[in-house]
Amino acid sequence: MDNAEIADRLETFAMMLELVEANPYTARAYRRAAETIRGAAVPIAELVRQNRVRELRGVGPGIEARLLELIQTGQIAELSELERELSPDLVGLGRYLGLTARRSIQLARSLGVRTADELREAAAAGRLRDVPGIGAKTEAQLLEALAREDGPQPRPGLLLNRARELVGVVAAAVGGEPAGDVRRWRDSCEWLAVATAARDPEPVLDRFVRLPQIVALVEREERRAIGVTVEGVPIELVAAEPDRFGTALVRATGSRTYVEALEPLPDRPDEPAVYAALDVPWCPPELREEPFRGQPPALVEVDDIRGDLHCHTTWSDGRASVEEMGRAARERGYDYLAICDHSPAVGAVRGLTPDDLRRQAVEIAAANEVLAPFRILRGIECDILPDGRLDLPDDVLAELDWVQASVHGGQRMPAPEMTRRVEEALRNPYVRCLSHPTGRYINRRPENAVDLERIFEVALEERVALEVNGLPLRLDLSGSHVRDALRAGVEIVCSTDAHSVIGLDNMALAVATARRGWATAANVLNTRPLEAILAYRGRPR
Ligand SMILES: [Zn+2]
Ligand SMILES: [Zn+2]
Repeated sequence: MDNAEIADRLETFAMMLELVEANPYTARAYRRAAETIRGAAVPIAELVRQNRVRELRGVGPGIEARLLELIQTGQIAELSELERELSPDLVGLGRYLGLTARRSIQLARSLGVRTADELREAAAAGRLRDVPGIGAKTEAQLLEALAREDGPQPRPGLLLNRARELVGVVAAAVGGEPAGDVRRWRDSCEWLAVATAARDPEPVLDRFVRLPQIVALVEREERRAIGVTVEGVPIELVAAEPDRFGTALVRATGSRTYVEALEPLPDRPDEPAVYAALDVPWCPPELREEPFRGQPPALVEVDDIRGDLHCHTTWSDGRASVEEMGRAARERGYDYLAICDHSPAVGAVRGLTPDDLRRQAVEIAAANEVLAPFRILRGIECDILPDGRLDLPDDVLAELDWVQASVHGGQRMPAPEMTRRVEEALRNPYVRCLSHPTGRYINRRPENAVDLERIFEVALEERVALEVNGLPLRLDLSGSHVRDALRAGVEIVCSTDAHSVIGLDNMALAVATARRGWATAANVLNTRPLEAILAYRGRPR
C-alpha cells in the first residue's frame, strides 16, 4: 500500500467521522495525518512495520493503531462498518439535493432505503410525505430536485487544488482529459467535467460509475453521465466519438458564455483542428471566461519562473528547515528562494524578533555555502500594524534582501482606514512586495475593504510589486484583479507562501491565476534573474 492509498483511506475515515458527527478534533487529526502522509518522502508502510510511524508529526497512539491495522489487514474495520451503515451514495445524493448528511441518514432510516436508487423509487412512489418532518413543500422540492435535468442549485465550489486532484483521478481512470472549471483554473470549481474519446461509450461509462470517488449516478445518457461524490459534488463525464473529441473538449471546458460565442462548432478530432476550422487562434483555457476570438498574448509559464519569493520554515510556522526548503527549490529548477518567516505581531504563531533574524542569517549563509550557486535570500513576511507602521524597525528591514508586507490581524477595518494602512506600508522604502493584497479566503472570508485602485497607484509610484499568492485558499490577487493591476502598470510576483516542501508546488496555481489575469513573463518579477530581484527598488542602504 503506497502513501497516497494510505492517505486516501485516512481521509475517507475522517470524512465518515464527520458524517456521524464524531468529535471534530478526531476527524481533523486524521485529516492532518493524511496530509502529512501524502507529503512524506518515505514509504509509510515501512515506518509502520518498524514501529516508527509516531516520528511523523501529528501521529499519536490512536492513529498509529489504525495505521497498523490498515497495513496488516488492508482495511480499517471501523471504517468498513461506517461505510456499510452510512451508504455514501445516499449521503452524496442527499448533499447534492441540499440535505445535510444527518438529514439524509434520517430520511433513509425512516423510509427503510439503503441506496440512492431506492430513495428515488420511494420518492416516486409518494412515500416521502410519510417521513416525519417532511411536509408537502419539502417533498415537492426534493421531487423537483430529483427530476431536474440540470441538477439542483449550484453549491459552493471546491478549492482548485482539491478539484484538480479529483478531476485528475477521474480523468486518468477513464483515459480522458480534465475539462470544466478545473481546466480553466478557476479559484473555486463548481462545474467538474472530464472529456474522453470512445468509439464505444458503454465500457467507459461503466468504468466511471464504478470509480470509488463516484458514489451515486444522477444522470446517464448514451455518451454522457453525471455522478456525485460523497460530498455531493457533481462530476460530468462526456464520452465523445473520436472524430468529434476536440469539439466535445471545447464544450466541456467552457465557460458557457465563451463557447456560446464560438458556436456553431465544427466536428473535429482535436482542439487545434476545431480552432483552425473556425479560423480563430487557439485560446489558452485560462482566458476562456468571456467571448474572445483574437490572438491571445504569450502567457507566463511555470518554466519562466526563476525563483519563489515567499515561503516559511520551522523558524515560524513552516515544517521544513531553511536548507530543506532551499534544496527543494533548487530541485524545482529555481535560482533563488526568499525565506519570509513571520514577524512577532502575527500572534497566532511564533514570529521572528530582530535577534532571531540575525541568527537565521547565519543558518541561511551556511545553507548557501552548501547549495551555491543557488541562492537563499534573507526575507521577512512583516506584519503591517493597524496604524500602517511595519512590525520591525527600518534598520532591521534594511539588512534583508526581500521584504514582504502583510495585513494579518484587524482585517475588518472600513475601507478608508484599511487603504491608508496599506498605503503607509507601501511607502516604507524597504518593502518590495505586498502579500495577499485582498486578504480573502475563497468561499470563507470576503476581501478586505481596501481600495485596490488606490493601492495600484501607490504600488506603481513606489515600485512595489503585488503578490499572486498560490495558497489554494487564497489565490490572491485573483485573476481579474491581476488584470486590473497590469492595466494600471503594476508588476506582480507569483509566490507559493509554502509552509512545507510540497507547498512549493503551488507555483502552478499562482502562475495559472496570473495567466487568468492575462500576465506575460514580462509582467512577473520573479521570471527575472537574481540580480534583478536584488536590485528591485534600488535596495536603499
Ligand atoms: Zn501571510
Ligand atoms: Zn506567508
